[in-house]
Amino acid sequence: MNHKLMAITLLGAGLLASCSMDRIPQTEFGALKALKPGTQDTINTKLKVNIVFVGYRQTSPGQPATARQIDTQDFNQTLPGTYDAVNRIPSAYGRTEKTGTSFDFDYNYVFANQSFEDDFFKFVSATGAAKPLTVQQGLYNCQNANPETGLPDCDVPAGNINREITGNFEIDALKTENWLADNVSRVGVKPGEYTIYFVNWFDRPDFKFHSYTRADAADTDTGTKFGARGSRRLIAWGGSARENAPAQRVWFYDLSANPDPWTDAYDVTNPDVDGDGAADYRMPPIWEYGTRKASIGYGRKVSPDLALVARYTAINLLFTPSPIYRAALTPPDMPEKINLDVHVEQGSGAADPAKLLNNSLLQSRVQVLQPFTAFSNTTKQTALDGSLADVYKCYFGVSEDTCSPDYADFSGEKLFQFGVKELREEYKTTPAGTYQLPIYSFNDNTNSQGGLLGVAYDDGETGTQSFVYSFLTPDLIAAGYGFTDTTVHETGHHLSLSHPHDGYDSEQNLSYGPSGDFHFVNTGDESASIMSYNDLSRTFGQFNLDSQYRYLTAAYLNNTNAILELVRRAQKVDSVYNSVLMADSQFVQAQAKYDALDYLGAAQLAHAGYRSVLSAAKAAGVPVTAYKWYENLNGLEGLSAGQGAKLRFSPTFKAQTGVVAFPEETAYQRKLRLMK
Ligand SMILES: [Zn+2]
Repeated sequence: MNHKLMAITLLGAGLLASCSMDRIPQTEFGALKALKPGTQDTINTKLKVNIVFVGYRQTSPGQPATARQIDTQDFNQTLPGTYDAVNRIPSAYGRTEKTGTSFDFDYNYVFANQSFEDDFFKFVSATGAAKPLTVQQGLYNCQNANPETGLPDCDVPAGNINREITGNFEIDALKTENWLADNVSRVGVKPGEYTIYFVNWFDRPDFKFHSYTRADAADTDTGTKFGARGSRRLIAWGGSARENAPAQRVWFYDLSANPDPWTDAYDVTNPDVDGDGAADYRMPPIWEYGTRKASIGYGRKVSPDLALVARYTAINLLFTPSPIYRAALTPPDMPEKINLDVHVEQGSGAADPAKLLNNSLLQSRVQVLQPFTAFSNTTKQTALDGSLADVYKCYFGVSEDTCSPDYADFSGEKLFQFGVKELREEYKTTPAGTYQLPIYSFNDNTNSQGGLLGVAYDDGETGTQSFVYSFLTPDLIAAGYGFTDTTVHETGHHLSLSHPHDGYDSEQNLSYGPSGDFHFVNTGDESASIMSYNDLSRTFGQFNLDSQYRYLTAAYLNNTNAILELVRRAQKVDSVYNSVLMADSQFVQAQAKYDALDYLGAAQLAHAGYRSVLSAAKAAGVPVTAYKWYENLNGLEGLSAGQGAKLRFSPTFKAQTGVVAFPEETAYQRKLRLMK
């Protein structure tokens, strides 16, 4: 049968199915435009990325670039042509698992004209204020620190720096982002398009040594102003979700600011700054480029470094990142309701948990990541003692005699098993269709561990998300932390999101984190996102929302495709046919919204299509079941220790042993960065 004839025959059958009682049973779906039953599909889109230079000059044709000139050939050589996202932790278990979102990039280079530059630097001059030097600016001047205080310790500036920093003009980072977003049309960019602004003030006569700030940023529970710390002064910012305004997708990066404390760029002397024995590649302040002195700026040019920042920070980690977990949660039957199932494990004498964990704020902040799902939250408080205290201590290696030698205790195995047991009990009384998102907040009254704030655990077997843990000790509270922000961050991981400082390069099939050759990608943290480590945001930013709504759109599409395969196997094609045709047209419309950067609109249509097919399939008696990781664990049926149980290695373990390459700082934690 030729294809055209088959299509006509099936179309006829489809019409019959909708208007006639007397029809031939259907076993195939015929020609659909967006749906591909039984297929793992990818939503491909063309994505324009604007790269705008402000204060930079382009190389003269035919001449080599000097240290601070821009040659767009550097970008052409470095930037990726495509991106194909993967579910990172599931992919660490043996087979690369695609998210179903891919991109073909279209780059647009713009050199801002004189009047734009004059207005921008006039704006920053007017909005900023002179402040004392930060500790890190002092450390740059000295290139040393007093070993006892960690403070700069010199009478005269170090001989190997190119300039002494003599002032600190502080500029509000959010106002700067908003100004640049409000003025995109002046550089030929449409509002809402992904745009990197590379800024250089240094080559202008009105230059001031400066830094950007989010000065008011404070911890939700303790009110500690992280934004006031020198370590939180910025050279980059963007990705804010602006209220009551169209989406803005702007990130700026100013190499003439600070130098950047978050990538240790104030140290231009020592190649290895994190002490792991490998040189840490980072971008020095712009005036160090092309220096003749013994500095990390020797022999370097700005242009290729900015291209690295564009690829490995802005594009891979902010604009089109890969998720760590599946957004679908329980494929192919995705939940309609999510309950934040909070367990407070209260240590005797520990601080009042009511002042450290705000569940209604937690819920209101995370529910944007599953916008078509109804959220609720419950809290259960128990004493951190007995067997729970044992497994908790085992997790941090405090008391090794309570840890079973048969299990991978250092990867949290006993703590994990404790949670599985509780979760299985809770599901006995949970209504079908509700997803229990298990959160354990350990409120310890002793300093059992040094700096882990939280973890979003996987199941150790399929890379499916399992538990959210958050941790507090007296020292961590003294450092300024409560539970709420950590729990929002970890729940963000659980619902799929990666950090803005680690990720995946799809053309190179490379996972990387912020150390060694990629130390500089810590600047991804300088963006509006609770997924950052720098404690300057409480909510999910525009880049997080864009990513999540793309993941959801693809998840709805692919889980509809999976359900259609179940329908076909159950020989129920007839019963769902009208729903499938309607859903197919919704997915076509979803793709159009997606291409137009309306990712929420795309996800909404995809959700509607998915739901109608799911309902029709269930009504027809097709068995569509949610994947429940806690029912599918190898060697855990009885939950008794030993007895032939298979060791279950998490990516944490793999990172420790080198069995599988994984970012050094594992992809799902929230760690303390104690810096002044
Ligand atoms: Zn994290």
